[in-house]
Amino acid sequence: MAIKTWSTPVETETTRTIPCALCGGEVFSPHLYCEGFFYVRCTRCGLVQMNPQPENDAVRQRYREGYGEDYLAYELANEAAFLRLQELALEDAGLDGIEKEIMRTNTAPPSVLDIGCATGALLATLRDRGWACTGAEISPSAEYARKRGLDVRDRVLEENEFPDASANAGFDLALASHLIEHLNDPASFVAEVHRILKPGGDFIVTTPNIDGFQARLFGGRWRSAIFDHLYLFSIKTLSRLLTEHGFAIERVRTWGGLAAGTAPAALKRIADKAAKRFGVGDVMLIRGKRKDMVTGPL
Ligand SMILES: [Zn+2]
Repeated sequence: MAIKTWSTPVETETTRTIPCALCGGEVFSPHLYCEGFFYVRCTRCGLVQMNPQPENDAVRQRYREGYGEDYLAYELANEAAFLRLQELALEDAGLDGIEKEIMRTNTAPPSVLDIGCATGALLATLRDRGWACTGAEISPSAEYARKRGLDVRDRVLEENEFPDASANAGFDLALASHLIEHLNDPASFVAEVHRILKPGGDFIVTTPNIDGFQARLFGGRWRSAIFDHLYLFSIKTLSRLLTEHGFAIERVRTWGGLAAGTAPAALKRIADKAAKRFGVGDVMLIRGKRKDMVTGPL
């Protein structure tokens, strides 16, 4: 039995039924049943979302309060393992190439915004590589990240009002690892990332893969089918979300065939390889590049 990802307990909060967050569709088919909540699939575009879902205020409150000391302890206990996974993911996303390209064209150090940066472990390693680092984190882990000397804002992305590239600012790279599935309005989030990136800047999103082998195998018991995940994306739905908001898809990767402890090591190795090759890994990464959108006649 796979262990589920950390989540706040299932609570009865004010919920509402919403249209599809990707295409606005209002016709759904049932998709996954979990204890106390469920996911539906949009019959038009295929997006899987919790519906009804808790209101925005309740969700934010959860991360400010529910992700307290216990969550920090969980994060710190797993920090080295999570960091290693994130570093492998960035390697897979082509970070080295991105870095070289920026350093070739920029005079200033490359800048990165890690949205949902938790304890700041990843930012600290990027800082060591010469990046100018900013983080956003609404859980109390932000405090821990600041003790590392990092510039971490404790507001949700949109409330920071980061300047856009027209003000001679903007970020070269934005990261969102295991964040987008927690947000009520992923479309406005992606639009905001687009606004604050430099033209040609990269956005690397990591999130569970609803089309992965484990999701298909475990259904409602899948480790990522948790109360805190409002959306469960596939490569198709996440790619569409990014392209509709001005990103060109540069790279797609999935990894993780079987969760540790669910199968003998040899079988797990085979499953992991196959998952990566066929795009059915448990977690996926998409790297988008900011295209400049045509906003009207020149
Ligand atoms: Zn839809």
